Amino acid sequence: MARHSDENWGINTRLAHSGHDPHAYFGFVNPPVVHASTVLFPDAATMAGRTQKYTYGTRGTPTTDALCAAIDELEGSAGTILVPSGLAAVTIPLLAFLSAGDHVLIVDSVYAPTRNFANTMLKRLGVEVDYYDPHAGSGIAALMKPNTKVVFTESPGSNTFEMQDIPAIAAAAHAGGAVVMMDNTWATPLYFKALDFGVDVSIHAATKYPAGHSDVLLGTVSANAACWARLHETFLTMGCCAAPDDVYQVLRGLRTMGVRLEHHRRSALEIAQWLETKPGVARVLHPALESHPGHALWRRDFNGSSGIFSIVLDGGGQKEAHAFLDALEIFGLGYSWGGYESLAVPVFLGDRTIAKGPQEGPVIRLQIGLEDVADLKADIERGLAAASLR
Ligand SMILES: *Cc1c(COP(=O)(O)O)cnc(C)c1O
Repeated sequence: MARHSDENWGINTRLAHSGHDPHAYFGFVNPPVVHASTVLFPDAATMAGRTQKYTYGTRGTPTTDALCAAIDELEGSAGTILVPSGLAAVTIPLLAFLSAGDHVLIVDSVYAPTRNFANTMLKRLGVEVDYYDPHAGSGIAALMKPNTKVVFTESPGSNTFEMQDIPAIAAAAHAGGAVVMMDNTWATPLYFKALDFGVDVSIHAATKYPAGHSDVLLGTVSANAACWARLHETFLTMGCCAAPDDVYQVLRGLRTMGVRLEHHRRSALEIAQWLETKPGVARVLHPALESHPGHALWRRDFNGSSGIFSIVLDGGGQKEAHAFLDALEIFGLGYSWGGYESLAVPVFLGDRTIAKGPQEGPVIRLQIGLEDVADLKADIERGLAAASLR
């Protein structure tokens, strides 16, 4: 049974206690990892009556209930589904709310695989897809069509970190009868509580900070009361359920997410501020920096900043970017983020149609892990020296 924690508790207290009541399972502090397909019924009447709480593994277990309850508490949502990856957490709600003949507006700074899904599968299914400027704000009203059913947001944007005015976009989208979805992976519900700002469906790659250790793939999708039934029905229809060990690991990760995020936040901001002073760096794309064009929006709506941002090298091209990346000894070259270790990747923006991104030089994304800041700075110094732009 889920236990609902006191809403006056601080966030770390809630993260430590939400989702599972130990006394509902013999006092064990953690919920059991239930591996399940078949669930038995006591008799035929119960089977026919459809009243038993658990009926089949794809439809939920005590393990998935514990994580769903914890996420609902963080999001303030009516219900949450758990899916096998962050990408599935994007595709399932889009399939839930879009039909042939509908129109969807997607922010141009969206996570690239979201764009790929829209451009291939949504178009094949007869959905009209348009991209919009992340800075559109209430101007999104002019892009709404009578058949616009979903406005998809992601703030800050992937790799380039443009901030969106979510309340303004949500108001305009709702006025036109559309559902507002947000890929809120960057902030987690700790730093941006999407449903409080007009979002109807909040999406997370729990692979990132909730899991936190670069080993588990999982997605969560949380909906408000108006959107929950349709999201849940689609989830059951698709059979796209997450595996019990992964669900357990993400609930385990949530317990420490507050302290990990605070460390990521502080280290990343310190390194971003330091990078602003470095020759060879044209710009730092981090919304918590005062120099960031979206800083005022970030300050107005967000409670914190996480550990991933980008730098723009001051000139040069692929040769300089590769020299920077190859000189790094602590930062690994690899995709994803939110784990304990630092990562760097070259950013490709060739698929953008509106938010083309910085032009001064190559863009490199940095995920700041839990290592010591002095060591990370020394590593970045090695990269900048190798790129030798100044
Ligand atoms: C990583 C990521 C995803 C996808 O998560 P996976 O678990 O890797 O599939 C979705 N959206 C954003 C913004 C991401 O950064």
